[in-house]
Amino acid sequence: MESLRVLELYSGIGGMHYALKESGISAQVVAAVDINTTANKIYRHNFPDTPLWNKTIEGIPLDDFNKLSFDMIMMSPPCQPFTRLGLQGDIADPRCKSFLFILELLPRLCKMPTYILLENVKGFESSSARDYLIKTLSDCGYTYQESMISPTSVGVPNSRLRYFLVAKMSAENSSIQTSAKGCSFSHVTDSEFPERSSVLRSKCQNTDQPSEDNPNVHVLYKRETQMDSQKKTNQNKNLSVQQIQGYLEPQMNIDMELYLLKPKTLLRYGSILDIVQPHSRRSVCFTKGYGRYVEGTGSVLQCCMENEISSVFTNLDQLTEEEKLQKMLKLNLRYFTPREVANVMGFPQSFTFPEDISIIQQYRVLGNSLNVLVVARLLQLMTSEHFGHSEGEEQFSVLENEYPCS
Ligand code: SAH
Repeated sequence: MESLRVLELYSGIGGMHYALKESGISAQVVAAVDINTTANKIYRHNFPDTPLWNKTIEGIPLDDFNKLSFDMIMMSPPCQPFTRLGLQGDIADPRCKSFLFILELLPRLCKMPTYILLENVKGFESSSARDYLIKTLSDCGYTYQESMISPTSVGVPNSRLRYFLVAKMSAENSSIQTSAKGCSFSHVTDSEFPERSSVLRSKCQNTDQPSEDNPNVHVLYKRETQMDSQKKTNQNKNLSVQQIQGYLEPQMNIDMELYLLKPKTLLRYGSILDIVQPHSRRSVCFTKGYGRYVEGTGSVLQCCMENEISSVFTNLDQLTEEEKLQKMLKLNLRYFTPREVANVMGFPQSFTFPEDISIIQQYRVLGNSLNVLVVARLLQLMTSEHFGHSEGEEQFSVLENEYPCS
């Protein structure tokens, strides 16, 4: 195959670019576009030869896009309009403007790209932005496939459930524009939330909240219910997923002063920490607030195995503050280093940060990025000969069969 010309929009630190390399597809990124100066510094540090445009996408004239003559768009539009915390402003959110601009631009290009890959958060699938995207793709003659995928489905011990869409210009439509064949969520690879594996179902029933009379809401310790605990046990038993230890830096390379949890944090947030061990086959999503905020931002690592978490946390609230602290300190809890978060997210060892980027900034940009291995697999699927024909659908089930859900 001739080398594909790829446009990387909302490029951040280049997660998509790494996925493209990982996929083995013969391709070059002809332009990457982002407005975040920190992310751009990191991108440039790692891809000095890629043209990086520090511009707002919606400010770029059609002609400049035409000159690039690209065959593929890879993009992760800002997710805040679709997250629960981002107030779900959807297309009314100003941060959606650039995405709407791209959708309007697409049919006006001299040559529409053959391939489009889009990543976004859970929540996007039920947004008007998604409906508008699908309508545009249909009108432009693309075949597409949507899915919700978490890295556990490619054997990585990390939950990061994301929406993905891969689209290809239908062969018969490369010049004529007719309606698209769409395939929505035909194969969902979400081993952590099997109950949510159908987007349609997740739209009409909320399985997040156990009912009041459900015994599963009884808190065991650490505000954890039987159901939470069972879920973690099941995840740790899933041998198709790697252990966390394969993603850790050698202990002696780690400056524990920087990464150990402070007494204040332990006392205040001990009971809501998500704790994993080196032999665990799970971790929760690392978000951009990791290292600064505790609740729901990512797992912490237990470095001392002499004490069981259950023995430390059971009946903890009956102790004095000092006793509590002494017990929790025995676990030697630390944050994952940015390198370890990058490892979990599939970034290669060649990926590095410029020296002047602080640890907090490193966590922030990583939290905004994506799992490189998941995207690499999707790129392979999208560019495979069969994608867009009926046999193409089987490609998604390969993702599932190789890494069966527990
Ligand atoms: N996939 C990227 C991260 C995407 S996060 C990675 O691997 O790192 C979304 C990115 O979109 C952010 O870096 C943000 O700076 C950028 N962005 C948001 N609005 C933009 C706009 N209007 N024009 C260009 N970039 C924008």
